[in-house]
Amino acid sequence: MLRDSHNRIIRDLRISVTDRCNFRCFYCLPHGEPPLARKETILSFEEIEYAADIFVSLGIEKIRLTGGEPMLRRDLETLVAKIAKLKPQLKDLALTTNGFDIPRKAGILKYAGLDRMTISLDTLDTHRFREITGVDSLEEVFEAIEAAKEHGFEPVKINAVIVRGINDDELVDFALFARRTGVEMRFIEYMPLDSGHDWSRDKVVPGREIFEKINSVYPLELKDASRGSETAWKYRFADGEPGGIGIIAPVTEMFCGACSRIRLTADGQIRTCLFSTVEHNLRDYIRSGATRSELVEFIQHVTLKKEPAHRINEPDFVPASRTMSFIGG
Ligand code: SAM
Repeated sequence: MLRDSHNRIIRDLRISVTDRCNFRCFYCLPHGEPPLARKETILSFEEIEYAADIFVSLGIEKIRLTGGEPMLRRDLETLVAKIAKLKPQLKDLALTTNGFDIPRKAGILKYAGLDRMTISLDTLDTHRFREITGVDSLEEVFEAIEAAKEHGFEPVKINAVIVRGINDDELVDFALFARRTGVEMRFIEYMPLDSGHDWSRDKVVPGREIFEKINSVYPLELKDASRGSETAWKYRFADGEPGGIGIIAPVTEMFCGACSRIRLTADGQIRTCLFSTVEHNLRDYIRSGATRSELVEFIQHVTLKKEPAHRINEPDFVPASRTMSFIGG
């Protein structure tokens, strides 16, 4: 079992499979991609599979593939199939994507063993979509959501980063979208992880405000009084309509005390927190020919260094050593 020095059990591994992205979301990659990792530094599928196998043997139950845009990694379904072999110890294999190629690949990903899919969508308006992401792909994202539903990835989760003055006027529209399509809309507070370093506190829309705006139009009921190690408070619509709402408020309602997550970047660095300022080089250790038991010890040792909490709200906050597209959300 992986336990950190604050007695938190780590059950959730996020693996970034690439640092490349085909979107240019202003809250993530506003000025294009920073220099990408050299190809030879990126973990191969076999290395990811080996690392995942070790993590699962140490009690990891959930793996989420992310990026960059994970669907840009060629033949992702091959990696999904390799990791899916770790079930049933691995209980949940998920993907976070901007929807790229999902209409074509949803079936094959399901067949390969993917359990769940989260698709990012920050606006329902075509013009605004281009402004936020830098590309004209709103229709493709809608198609991706439909494809995910058709292939049984229910409930499809949709991530929307809510930023003051950009899309906070769409909260009720998003709730209506959830009711009409049956998806779970998850609203995320804007975090200081953008490569442009343009984040400021006044652009954060607090989770409480998000809840109140939606609740005043479509009354919400909390699904579960405890959220365990989940990031989101989850709500259903009180009138029984389909769909749901999730609110993720890492800035205004920090939930680090219950964190169960650890991350592996595309270039093989372990990160114990989204906001870590140091990383731990698993890749070089694997490539140096370390034995499996040495790698186990390394991972256990690194886990002990997991930070007690992020320091976004502290005066001495130091930004993470890498930005979101490298870390993997
Ligand atoms: N490309 C994929 C996608 O768009 O979902 C996966 C990677 S993306 C980094 C993962 C999630 O992080 C997305 O839902 C995205 O909206 C979120 N994200 C990126 N930058 C963020 C920020 N500065 N604050 C909060 N969430 C952010």
